[in-house]
Amino acid sequence: MANPTGTDESRSIFAGIESMGRRRRGLIGLIGANPLEVKLQAIVSPTEGVIDGRPVKLFGTNNYLGLTFDPDIQAAAIRAIREEGVGTTASRVASGNLPGHFKLEAELAAFVHKQTALVFSTGFQANLGTIAGLCAAGDVVVVDEDCHASIYDALKLTAARKIKFRHNDVGDLKRVLGGIAEPMSRVLVVVESVYSSAGDLAPLAEIAAFKEAAGCNLMVDEAHSLGMYGAQGEGLAAELGLIDKVDVMTGTFSKSFGLIGGFAASNHPDFFCLRYTARPFMFTAAPPPSIMAAARVSLAKIAAAGDRRARLWHNAGRLRAGFKALGVRVLDVRSPVVSAFFDDLTECYQVWSRLLAAGFYANLLMPPASSHGGCIIRFSVCSEHRGEDIEALLAALGAILGDVAEREKTEGERQVHFSPLGVVVPENARPAAAKPSPVP
Ligand code: PMP
Repeated sequence: MANPTGTDESRSIFAGIESMGRRRRGLIGLIGANPLEVKLQAIVSPTEGVIDGRPVKLFGTNNYLGLTFDPDIQAAAIRAIREEGVGTTASRVASGNLPGHFKLEAELAAFVHKQTALVFSTGFQANLGTIAGLCAAGDVVVVDEDCHASIYDALKLTAARKIKFRHNDVGDLKRVLGGIAEPMSRVLVVVESVYSSAGDLAPLAEIAAFKEAAGCNLMVDEAHSLGMYGAQGEGLAAELGLIDKVDVMTGTFSKSFGLIGGFAASNHPDFFCLRYTARPFMFTAAPPPSIMAAARVSLAKIAAAGDRRARLWHNAGRLRAGFKALGVRVLDVRSPVVSAFFDDLTECYQVWSRLLAAGFYANLLMPPASSHGGCIIRFSVCSEHRGEDIEALLAALGAILGDVAEREKTEGERQVHFSPLGVVVPENARPAAAKPSPVP
């Protein structure tokens, strides 16, 4: 058939994944394994699993409060499955709402001090549905460049104008807002309270003060702060006394809640209409009764989890201090995500894989999935890690770092870097740092 469009006929719809396949094979050839396909053979507890037949301490799960094995949460889910079935089989808009949907929404709204909360099937969908369900042509969405992929994907679903500002740079946010001709009531600024790859916190007080003065709207994704910050775990905005300045909050049940699902909350009297404007709410199956029942118990546990929060912060502080003492580059923040930064992939991968061999699993983030250029080993702390788990991790890391440094000295190890496009470049010259991009 004639091709009047001039489209390249040597490429197919599979060209994108073929090129990704080549890059991944190149990477695996160089580093010897696929760090994105670690097989967890078993999960034994919130902090323990089995990989390659060996027991492993889990330091890469987002299971911040260790609630995945809580017997009351498990019992609530099992009871709901028995009494109401395993699935909803349709959207709430089409097939009706179960009592658990409304009960959880009311409890969440009260928890985060907002009038209305809407439950979505995942946190990803909560961000997609909220941004695209609120903003339309004529509106402007201004996002921090390190925001999560779900926020970036939401931008593709809306006809609103989109502008990025430099990560955590309030000066740049001011510059961007200063250049917007649209009325400020039509502008939505979107940030996260805790950024998931580096674990750094948004300067929420400054952003909130500026948004009040400017008169625009503020949305905060509290995915990695709910459960940890605030007297009852209501999130960072609540801890800082800023909850009234946040017009829309989103969150997930996939982290401290130990489940799956997400929500959005606001004081706007018509916020419930997102049920009809948010396509990821309206056109997907409602979360099942088991998840609603389990999330209600999780929420109650989180509100009363002062002891777990204290243990979490103790563990995070100890891990961060231990890393610093070993000379590992970490940010100086109070965050349950303790990310270790490395300049070159070979060293980072060696440390990560040797930690795994020593029985410690963390997340390896490489450009473009890592922020701040370089490579990251991301450790997420759990309240249920025991002191000896953390000391054992630090001891293993210390030994591995010493060994890797020694081998680099004697063998002159090959260095592997990523170009800003994520292509593996096996050379010793260090390229410019990759631009930060959203975490997958
Ligand atoms: N927002 C942020 C900041 C996240 O890190 C994530 C998950 N990594 C999400 C939203 C999506 O949450 P969920 O896993 O519930 O889809």
